[in-house]
Amino acid sequence: MTLTEKILARAAGETEVNAGNNVWVNADLLMTHDVCGPARVWDANKIVIIPDHYIFTSDSLSNRNVDILREFAKAQGLQYFYDVIDDEDGKWKFDASQGLLKRQYGSRYAGVCHTALPQKGHIRPGEILFGTDSHTCMAGAFNQFATGIGNTDAGFVMGTGKLLLKVPETMHFRLEGELQPGVMAKDIILHAIGEIGFDGATYRALQFDGPGASGLSMDDRMTVANMAIEAGGKNGVFEYDDKTGAMVDERTKLNGTKSDYEPVERDENETFVYDTTIDLSALEPTVACHPDPGQRKLAREMTDMKLDRAYIGSCTGGKTSDFLAFAEVVRGQEVCIDTFGVPATPEIVNDLQTIEWDGKSVWSILTDAGVRMTENAGCSACLGGPVDTFGRMNEGGQKCISATNRNFPGRMGSKESEVYLASPATVAASALAGHVADPRDYLN
Ligand code: SF4
Repeated sequence: MTLTEKILARAAGETEVNAGNNVWVNADLLMTHDVCGPARVWDANKIVIIPDHYIFTSDSLSNRNVDILREFAKAQGLQYFYDVIDDEDGKWKFDASQGLLKRQYGSRYAGVCHTALPQKGHIRPGEILFGTDSHTCMAGAFNQFATGIGNTDAGFVMGTGKLLLKVPETMHFRLEGELQPGVMAKDIILHAIGEIGFDGATYRALQFDGPGASGLSMDDRMTVANMAIEAGGKNGVFEYDDKTGAMVDERTKLNGTKSDYEPVERDENETFVYDTTIDLSALEPTVACHPDPGQRKLAREMTDMKLDRAYIGSCTGGKTSDFLAFAEVVRGQEVCIDTFGVPATPEIVNDLQTIEWDGKSVWSILTDAGVRMTENAGCSACLGGPVDTFGRMNEGGQKCISATNRNFPGRMGSKESEVYLASPATVAASALAGHVADPRDYLN
């Protein structure tokens, strides 16, 4: 069996499952956020609610969503509700008069759900995670079967703890070699999606393994697994290794969450529907062009494309390591187009404000370079959101280069705007140049 089949077999109580089988699996965790929501729950300790999408907006209905979740979490006795405010009897209201940059959240607020789940110790190898969000597949970085489900399915899981799943076929991506300077994990997944197209993995598992995969950090693996859905994938999954165990153990201990787990290992005879090897050392900075994540080009082939803005943020591109890679490029220089920075979680805000290079915080390096950094960690303009959302593309005809994960028309606001997906390093170089740029030309 493949890694995905092994996890599903265990969750179904079977010794073996094959691609195409329909099996009832037991959920280990259900995650939901402010856009999707409440039912009567099967296990109050296995539901995690993370408001993150439409939070820092004056839109009263969006604010109300958070209040509904608070009431629901209280009524059901849910332990893991990462509220925006600290007062459990209060109401959430964004105060626009304070501006969009200064933090407006309490001590429990966790930020973007997919980045927050592992940080808060909710991700464990070998388990099953369902989430009401398509990028739930990011947790596959931790050797987990993690997939996005719709609200009807989530309602069923909430009540029963089970879900009927068709076992997906597995596409195998063996990674070899090492990424070269200026090339990032985002380039791996943009390259892979470019190979198979934005629907090339529809209802399939994407398995990443090999020496190149073990060389990647957990942040890098998260970037890759996150975008499995951008090729239509059911899930993305990595092998378990010491790096996986170290992060999971650290985070479960820190947060006092369940700490035991059982990873799955590769079998000798796996059946793949597609099998390829990617030499990481041969990859170059890559861009997914408008209007879908499969429109692959190399950054160096696009330098005549002028840009209106740049954006770094989201679950896939707003981690501490992403901002550090971005800062390395813009350090001591100034961006020449509107550039927005949205850390995925409050913990990342804290990292950037406390990590210092030559006595200066990375946060200051970024703001001095002209990047508009907000402390209000969250999804922000990654999916557009209400019109007052920080970084939203409200005007048609604009082109944005973005470290986010999706670029279908209207994704970041106006349907007439265009989004070009790239790594944080490529976004940074392009922000300095005002056109698509290859970050290798900007590194010392
Ligand atoms: S950051 Fe973007 S992709 Fe990630 S959960 Fe939020 S809206 Fe979705």
